[in-house]
Amino acid sequence: MFKRPILSGRPTVAEIDLEALAFNYRQIRKRVPKRTGILAVVKADAYGHGALPISHKLEELGAEYLGVAISQEGVELRRGGVKAPILILGGIFPEEEEEVIRNDLTPVIFEMDSLVRLSKIAGRKRKKIKVHLKVDTGLGRLGVPFDQFPVFLKELKKVRNIEIEGILSHFSMTDREEAYSSSQWKKFQEVLAIAREAGLKSRYFHMANSANLTFFTQYSGNMVRPGIMLYGSYPSPKIEKLINLKPVLTLKTRIHFLKSVPAGTRISYGGTFSTRRESLIATLPVGYADGYSTFLSNQGEVLIRGRRAPVVGRVCMDLIMVDVTDIPGASKGDEVILIGRQGRERITADEIARKIGSISYEVLCLIGKRVPRVYR
Ligand SMILES: *Cc1c(COP(=O)(O)O)cnc(C)c1O
Repeated sequence: MFKRPILSGRPTVAEIDLEALAFNYRQIRKRVPKRTGILAVVKADAYGHGALPISHKLEELGAEYLGVAISQEGVELRRGGVKAPILILGGIFPEEEEEVIRNDLTPVIFEMDSLVRLSKIAGRKRKKIKVHLKVDTGLGRLGVPFDQFPVFLKELKKVRNIEIEGILSHFSMTDREEAYSSSQWKKFQEVLAIAREAGLKSRYFHMANSANLTFFTQYSGNMVRPGIMLYGSYPSPKIEKLINLKPVLTLKTRIHFLKSVPAGTRISYGGTFSTRRESLIATLPVGYADGYSTFLSNQGEVLIRGRRAPVVGRVCMDLIMVDVTDIPGASKGDEVILIGRQGRERITADEIARKIGSISYEVLCLIGKRVPRVYR
């Protein structure tokens, strides 16, 4: 989990604005009916924002459930004092079952074997174990295949000491493509109808992620599972900004070293950049080991004194160089924004994602362990 850095002189930090998180959370609340629960997704260290502080804030905001990808993430939250129900979205492995139950984590289940094993554990502990049952309606990733669900349900009747607290599925489309999403939603409705007929009563049924909360709020169930939106980014770089969100994370540093060089000076490994004029080149203490992708070599931009400065030469493991010749007054120690706002300029995770052919999720998740997260 989050540890204070041993030495904190290096100015490369990720500032996390918990008020922006609260703002985004309320934006989502406004979009769904009053009774709809929010399962806030905090997997992958809360998309790089620090799972524990983010989860505590989400609990305080009233999130009904938290979602992690893997068991270890759930155990870490429990050790950090998180009390809210926690769903393990990615399923669990046999070796983890005991510990998952001991930590009161709710697994997503999609195989009979695993239900049978959990049922035995429950019998031994003389308690009911809660699980959420996942059905694949068209993503092709995890879940009981849609057409096998009726048979699965028959088998399920024989399994004791298990409470199916929720039934879920997951959408495939990340932008506005209603035909496929609505076909998945129809299948999910069929699944729920079959379950109801078989006498299976589940408290929650949920399917919507950020993309669906943006476009098709009618496909919500009685709980929704936003992830990226909570952090103020959009589920697709192409997405229309239909919802006003505030980016939660700012990645910043300071100018570490500054030098004036003549025209024709090669900068960084491989000499992929040479100055075309007498230039002022700043070296910044951030590199790909901090999550600043090598695909930003000769491509990225940063903000200094409210203006954009281009990354020149290759991104190194721990350092990058930027050309500040056109930034009047640029000095050693100046604040540099890699992701975030400065004056009227702004660089979003989505902008970086577009440049490197990725998605904002990956840009945020890549921010390295050695970058301290500082909470406001
Ligand atoms: C990651 C994830 C989400 C959240 O997705 P976003 O696009 O970040 O909103 C929801 N449900 C499941 C099963 C997930 O794996």
